[in-house]
Amino acid sequence: MTVAIVGAGPYGLSLAAHLRQLGVTTRVFGEPMESWRRHMPVGMLLKSRPVASSLAAPRPGYTLAAFQRARGERPLTGDQPVPRDTFVDYGRWFVDRLVPDVERVRITGIEPAGHGFVLGRDDGPEVEADAVVLATGLAAHRFVPAVLEDLGDDLVSHSAEHADLAELGADRDIVVIGSGQSALESAALLHEGGAARVRVFGRADRVRFAAPPEPGRPRRLTPDSPLGAGWTVAAAARGPAAFRLLPSGVRADLARRILGPSAAWWLRDRLDGRVPVRDAQTITRARRAPDGRARMLLRDRTGYQREVHADHVLAATGYRVDLAALDFLAPAVRRRIATVRGLPALAASFETTMPGLYVTGPPAATTFGPLLRFVHGTEFASRRLAAVLAARSRG
Ligand SMILES: Cc1cc2nc3c(=O)[nH]c(=O)nc-3n(C[C@H](O)[C@H](O)[C@H](O)COP(=O)(O)OP(=O)(O)OC[C@H]3O[C@@H](n4cnc5c(N)ncnc54)[C@H](O)[C@@H]3O)c2cc1C
Repeated sequence: MTVAIVGAGPYGLSLAAHLRQLGVTTRVFGEPMESWRRHMPVGMLLKSRPVASSLAAPRPGYTLAAFQRARGERPLTGDQPVPRDTFVDYGRWFVDRLVPDVERVRITGIEPAGHGFVLGRDDGPEVEADAVVLATGLAAHRFVPAVLEDLGDDLVSHSAEHADLAELGADRDIVVIGSGQSALESAALLHEGGAARVRVFGRADRVRFAAPPEPGRPRRLTPDSPLGAGWTVAAAARGPAAFRLLPSGVRADLARRILGPSAAWWLRDRLDGRVPVRDAQTITRARRAPDGRARMLLRDRTGYQREVHADHVLAATGYRVDLAALDFLAPAVRRRIATVRGLPALAASFETTMPGLYVTGPPAATTFGPLLRFVHGTEFASRRLAAVLAARSRG
């Protein structure tokens, strides 16, 4: 049996390493760590702690800390932020050691064929596989509010479109839309990269910053976990299998709300007194002004309307996973995948309702909980899915 994994990010790579260990014939397609290199900005720091920022390997010795030690660095610990570049280099190191034969091509089509699938690729002959795992991440699911669309591509862009925000911001007046980590970190990077003026407008009632670490402070009564402190966070981190047993409406709600938009503690100092952040703002209108700049109307919770002009609007407005965005899935495949609010309904085995087609990573979060939105979820997902596929290959 051959398993094809589409996507070579943390989830695809971790699964491939596990399948290899179990002797399952596996082919992995995609540019390794592409989302992290192309769709996240230079200078970004991971919000997840070092202990929650390792890809899952089937044997010891391949954590972020092991990588740092191998290149002669002192491993990051506790609440020290992990630089994006360190994480990308770590991903490449993991690939070299555990998944060296990643096929750096794009999958352009997936169609049913006999008892399996045939995959089209942008370069080279089609590939046959008995089972397919979609580990395609979030990039195809960028969300820009419809009200911003009239501005045109030169005046508005999604945060995922920029691998280097300095290019966008130099000497320009930029408005960032959003209330989460991506919005606030983009604003800090734009300000530090030489933008003339940066302002943030968010829809959330209040921008939440995580509490800074306080060494020596007595431990709180709430439980801690690699994803953070708190009862619901710890439960989500430890019980992805139990999460699946909740009613689907509750799961969809919790997957979004637990660990919802908030900013890392280390962003506060970079923004305070430098970048104005206004919350509870709703964009009611956005147009290109006669001078070619963006002109927006924003309403706050009291009903006060504000007119804002900018050279560019950066929509750090997140992602809305919808299977319909995966245009490489043939209609005959897509039709057979049951969804709940656009997200695939998954069995305990990660299998969709199309036999032989599996989904892992953030799109599986409404089934297994918010853990799957983070790198830390690779451990649970790879172990379980690899065991399922190994059993299947043994017949
Ligand atoms: C701005 C931002 C910051 C984040 N910060 C953190 C953080 O600090 N900590 C954390 O744990 N999580 C963070 N996340 C969440 C993060 O996306 C996930 O934890 C993790 O990257 C998911 O891994 P993945 O392999 O599912 O997806 P990805 O890393 O997105 O990898 C998917 C891969 O699939 C490839 N692909 C897609 N379609 C095809 C195709 N047709 N053919 C071939 N390849 C294809 C893509 O190119 C990509 O390389 C962040 C997300 C964003 C957007």
